[in-house]
Amino acid sequence: MSNKSSIVLFILFFTQTCAKTILITGAAGFVGSHLSKKLHGQGHTIIAIDNLLTGYRKNIQELISQPRFVFIEHDIIEPITLDQKIDWIFNLASPASPKRYQQDPVHTTKTSVIGVLNMLELAKQHNARILQASTSEVYGDPLQHPQTENYWGNVNPIGPRACYDEAKRCAETLCFDYHRKYGVKVKVIRIFNTYGPGMSPDDGRVVSNFICQALQKKPITIYGDGSQTRSFCYVNDLVDGIIAMMETDPEITGPVNLGNPDEYTILELAQKVKDMILGVEFCFKALPQDDPTKRKPNITRAKQLLGWEPKISLDEGLKRTIEYFQKHK
Ligand code: NAD
Ligand code: UDP
Repeated sequence: MSNKSSIVLFILFFTQTCAKTILITGAAGFVGSHLSKKLHGQGHTIIAIDNLLTGYRKNIQELISQPRFVFIEHDIIEPITLDQKIDWIFNLASPASPKRYQQDPVHTTKTSVIGVLNMLELAKQHNARILQASTSEVYGDPLQHPQTENYWGNVNPIGPRACYDEAKRCAETLCFDYHRKYGVKVKVIRIFNTYGPGMSPDDGRVVSNFICQALQKKPITIYGDGSQTRSFCYVNDLVDGIIAMMETDPEITGPVNLGNPDEYTILELAQKVKDMILGVEFCFKALPQDDPTKRKPNITRAKQLLGWEPKISLDEGLKRTIEYFQKHK
């Protein structure tokens, strides 16, 4: 056999054994669209599900006409059956910004609780791996700092953020119960504040708000005195971590924190944006109820299990995000 034909055979063998059929819920959203593009680019077949609540068809427009990509407009609180054998499920469907998840809190809870149940059933039927996008919000207003995965959290169960926080906590519970009771191969990640190109300009999250306000020469809205902290992860780093987690051995379930441990006050973030977009003023507004006072991931577990840590600094990530919003004004 010639060298050329053995290379062709190797590529055929590789694509047949390694290329997966992957279901991504929330695929038209900010993180889901980045994840869809990366996995599609790696040669996998993507079945993208989204109800377009906070996501947009334009986020995945370049994929929609391509082979190995199918878009299904569907709300995951309704069951779904798929004929094609699924290998991996990434369950990302849920509004993520406080402004958007509080607009219809009952639907937000249903999305995480009933939605994950539907996806776990699908994983059980297809013997598929399922990765659940959980959140640093499971730690609530944390009394432990930085937050390790062993910390059980400090969540107000009846406050305005509970529809998201408690529903995500319940979703984690369901994942681990399906794992223990039915042997479903689950992977739970807890995502900390993530930003980057592709964020919706009007979903109210701090990075998109500050940049869009500054570009429109409007005052930057700082809630409270700006002393609360967050740790911001660039979206490409997060996507690498999500895929690395899915690729771990089946016995690795998590939870695993995925975030950038560099912590900033909101005032420091505002100052950075002001330094990058000149001529900007600050204005101070009331702090929303139950707004966590601090947040910073301990990522020791992610480093050990996934060999993963973020690479993009906040300065570099903000520069890229500002360029994106300038281009898409
Ligand atoms: P996003 O709002 O941009 O995307 C969420 C997507 O889910 C949207 O396309 C939306 O239309 C879709 N969706 C919502 N409810 C649905 C439903 N019932 N059925 C089908 N589709 C539905 O948010 P994101 O920032 O891309 O977040 C993605 C996931 O990551 C979410 O599960 C979120 O909780 C989690 N997460 C994100 C962050 C972050 O900082 N971005 C932090 C922690 C956790
Ligand atoms: N925030 C702010 N101004 C804004 C939007 C948000 O000061 O225009 C603050 C918000 O009160 C919180 C932090 O920035 O302390 C992060 O808010 P975001 O909604 O992005 O995410 P959260 O971590 O609260 O879910």
